[in-house]
Amino acid sequence: MLKVVKFGGSSMADAGQYRKIRSILQADPTRSVVVVSAAGKRFSGDHKLTDLLYLCHAHVQYGVDCSRIFKMITSRYLDIQSDLDLDLDLGPELEALKLSIDAKKVTQEELVSRGEYFSAKLMAAYLGFQFIDAADWVKFNMDGTVNQDASYEALRNRITPGYGCVIPGFYGVMPDGAIHTFSRGGSDITGSLAAAALDADVYENWTDVSGILMADPRIVEDPQAIPEVTYDELRELSYSGAQVLHEDCIFPVREKNIPVNIRNTNDPEAPGTMIRGQFQGEKDPDRFITGITGKKDFSIISLSKRGMSNQVGVLRKVLTVLERHNISVDYVPNGIDNVSVVLPTASVEKDLYTIMAQIKQEVQPDTLDVHHQIAVVAAVGRQMAFRPGISGKIFAALGESGINIRMINQGPDELNIIFGVDNKDFADAIRVLYNSFVK
Ligand code: ASP
Repeated sequence: MLKVVKFGGSSMADAGQYRKIRSILQADPTRSVVVVSAAGKRFSGDHKLTDLLYLCHAHVQYGVDCSRIFKMITSRYLDIQSDLDLDLDLGPELEALKLSIDAKKVTQEELVSRGEYFSAKLMAAYLGFQFIDAADWVKFNMDGTVNQDASYEALRNRITPGYGCVIPGFYGVMPDGAIHTFSRGGSDITGSLAAAALDADVYENWTDVSGILMADPRIVEDPQAIPEVTYDELRELSYSGAQVLHEDCIFPVREKNIPVNIRNTNDPEAPGTMIRGQFQGEKDPDRFITGITGKKDFSIISLSKRGMSNQVGVLRKVLTVLERHNISVDYVPNGIDNVSVVLPTASVEKDLYTIMAQIKQEVQPDTLDVHHQIAVVAAVGRQMAFRPGISGKIFAALGESGINIRMINQGPDELNIIFGVDNKDFADAIRVLYNSFVK
């Protein structure tokens, strides 16, 4: 049995959290491959180390002295080092880093990667585990994708069987040896790659909530955690707005059918959320909706043209205009002689007038409008599929609460029901759904 365990920033925030991690590992010795994030916030209003590192680089870039920020960074690490009474001394390496920063010899990606690098060094020293640098095995292709085969082989060659190891998350190397980072939150991907490389039995992702919540706790008071969710549902939930795991982290574990267990470092007894391909026998057969999520600030571009249903290529022309502007479309609800495209306002804002003019010229619609301030809400659940009455219940509940629906979309796999409302109705729509399906 092998478990790859990843601890996020809040789990790595100070020496107290390191102690919790050690007892979590001692409670189950199969948790032997540990992936860590950079130190996160200790309290609200605190700073994430990664943010400070980005800030540090921005200062240098503009020729502003970053010594004060760098001091904040070093003291976070040196405090952990002294609180845990470690033999390791990061001091000289931190000083060398400062010299390279001042000499402008460190790229942004290399600098921000040091957040996880130093975390992993400290954790390895604290646990007495082997330190395995991500730069020695996470290998990127020139296009920024991961060369999985080469990476997996390199990790397998570095692991010493029977010994625990600690790996920094978030970064790897390009073919020319330069440090390259994933996008923010990318330590989740490193953990997933390690689990896939080593054919782990489970990938545990430890964070500061007891699993994925059914709805955003800033909107719904004290939402329940989701006990079980499939990879597909999770993909839907994250795409539609739920911030749980990095959205690319599911792919490596999914290829090897490795379950992911989201756990809470501050409540290690809680079972958290289990993510896998399928579940046999539902824990709660009456729970049709797995989670409710959504995002604000979409725009809907709508056009109508008489006889459009009999014309070939109208939709293609609209999509081609958007493609020309490198804009990806989220949903395409349509009627008989009209079609709309729904996309994030931020993606379209800059070129909106040109886009509208081009659509007008190429499609010659009878009407062409754009509406902003639209929120998209998604109800996701594998148990909704092929079950009559669910969408009826959703829309009845929204109607009773006076919430106007601006568009409706359902994927053919019936894994989700997605609808658009005005931004101002966003939170109410989520609360109404939660109250009618969960409470
Ligand atoms: N430290 C990085 C970030 O804050 C990566 C991670 O924590 O996953 O985005």
